[in-house]
Amino acid sequence: MSSGAVLAPSVSRNTAPAPRNLAPWHRPIIRGVSGKPFASSADLAEKTATLEELADGVYAYTAEGDPNVGCIVGTDAVLAIEARATPLMAERWIDVIRTFTDLPFGDLVLTHYHAVRVLGASAFKARRIVAHRATAEWIEERGAEDWASEQGRMPRLFAGAETIPGLTRPTHTFDEAMLIDLGNRVVELRWLGRGHTAGDLVAWLANERICFAGDLVEARAAPYMGDAHIAEWRGATLDAVASLGAEQLVGGRGPVVRGAAVEQAIGDTRAFLSAVLDGTRAVKEAGGTPAEAYRSTRAELEPRYGAFPIFEHTMPFNVQRAWDELDRIDHPRIWTVERDRAVWEALTA
Ligand SMILES: [Zn+2]
Repeated sequence: MSSGAVLAPSVSRNTAPAPRNLAPWHRPIIRGVSGKPFASSADLAEKTATLEELADGVYAYTAEGDPNVGCIVGTDAVLAIEARATPLMAERWIDVIRTFTDLPFGDLVLTHYHAVRVLGASAFKARRIVAHRATAEWIEERGAEDWASEQGRMPRLFAGAETIPGLTRPTHTFDEAMLIDLGNRVVELRWLGRGHTAGDLVAWLANERICFAGDLVEARAAPYMGDAHIAEWRGATLDAVASLGAEQLVGGRGPVVRGAAVEQAIGDTRAFLSAVLDGTRAVKEAGGTPAEAYRSTRAELEPRYGAFPIFEHTMPFNVQRAWDELDRIDHPRIWTVERDRAVWEALTA
């Protein structure tokens, strides 16, 4: 298979049974007083997934703005990147992997702690679950709250929620870097600074110049900043991602980007973060409110980013975190179902 070829033009995954364990907050569509549907609660249309082979044995599976996953086939095991939100959702991806390899999963690599990327882990039966140390700490601190929050915000991604056995806990962590030798290639896991969370890692294939960037970079999708260290992310951390010199990059959401589009995706992400942080600062310094900061930054970003997946979903949470960071709250406040609703109502009213 040649580099960049699309293996299967589209893999439909619209056979989801409805989740059976609907929590009290989990209603199909919830509108705030402004009439805006809460987060992604009204996003119920299935996306078309696309499998691409980026280099021999290196795969990305993207889905029109839904969270991306990937895998790398080694000599005697497969390294999986991200686990999806539920074991059922993971099984659909594993079914695709089984069309090109029967090898077992050695390492399951989690780019960060968010529920939508980690709670499907049990389906892989991997020998190790690898993440940054801060990711393990955040799962202990706020994994349960994040699970409830994300399921309420993005119910469609939690098909088969009843198959989740509990929180996903990494079995192996690192601080700066970790090398995984797959026999036929070495995968570098690197922590490049605080960003989308405190513990984002990138998976880097130096020879192939392929970067799996997690949510540090979004390609034609809106960044989520609710748990972010925004000033560091838009500065040194994205500088470090850019300096890798990736020729192909798989962001957290959106299509695989190549060549000049890598720089574009990093630049779009950085510009978005700056607009939210600087726009919020301007309103705050003028004595305004978070709701005013939401309205002005949303209006500024809408022409360029408004059609990107999860734009409307992320903006209230993005502005609230920017406000908190400007208030010198270094450790992002925990999102709960109740806080999600309160912030949504307050900012979008
Ligand atoms: Zn995330």
